[in-house]
Amino acid sequence: MENVYVYEFGDSLYFNLTNRCPNNCEFCLRHFKEGVSGNRLWLTKEPALDELMNQLSKFTLSKYKEAVFCGFGEPTCNLEMLLKIAAYLKEKGCKTRLNTNGLGNLVNDGKDVAKLIAPYIDCVSISLNASTVEGYDKICHSRFGAGAFEAMLQFTRDCVAAGIDTTMSVVDVIGREEIEKCEKVVKSTGAKFRVREIIDENTEY
Ligand code: SF4
Repeated sequence: MENVYVYEFGDSLYFNLTNRCPNNCEFCLRHFKEGVSGNRLWLTKEPALDELMNQLSKFTLSKYKEAVFCGFGEPTCNLEMLLKIAAYLKEKGCKTRLNTNGLGNLVNDGKDVAKLIAPYIDCVSISLNASTVEGYDKICHSRFGAGAFEAMLQFTRDCVAAGIDTTMSVVDVIGREEIEKCEKVVKSTGAKFRVREIIDENTEY
């Protein structure tokens, strides 16, 4: 079966660049599903540029509201491909969005990912998931441990400072009190805040 690197979902075009991720979130869609919208998103290999461009050529870019870099995995784990494709899409006049766990700097050995993506990515959506270091660790089980939470907040601040339209989100099952605490954390970063449904297929995972 062919690896799915590009697929249509709703009125947007989605990019599946990697299955790698430094987290293992309790609610991750990957625990429950093989993919989205009839597309199997587990990859046997990450895309080479020509493979991805070949799949992309089958879609009419102007048809879509936006191009979205999303799971099945953390897109910044394949930063090189993300930058190449985002630059191409931008040149073609697409609106671009990155759904991320915000750990790109840690994954990429301290690179300033916000600065690198800023020329090509219009919107960034970051999964906050919890209002504290401990809460985040309990839900997301990051391989970066306690450092993950602050790194995610710093990445968010960096995206805001870089002029990217930046949103942090939480899932709706964490309870009203925790949602309010998360909202305060988000306000401190300068990002927008959004509460999303737990199975909000393919928005973040
Ligand atoms: S929800 Fe996102 S960050 Fe969490 S394990 Fe799944 S792909 Fe990784």
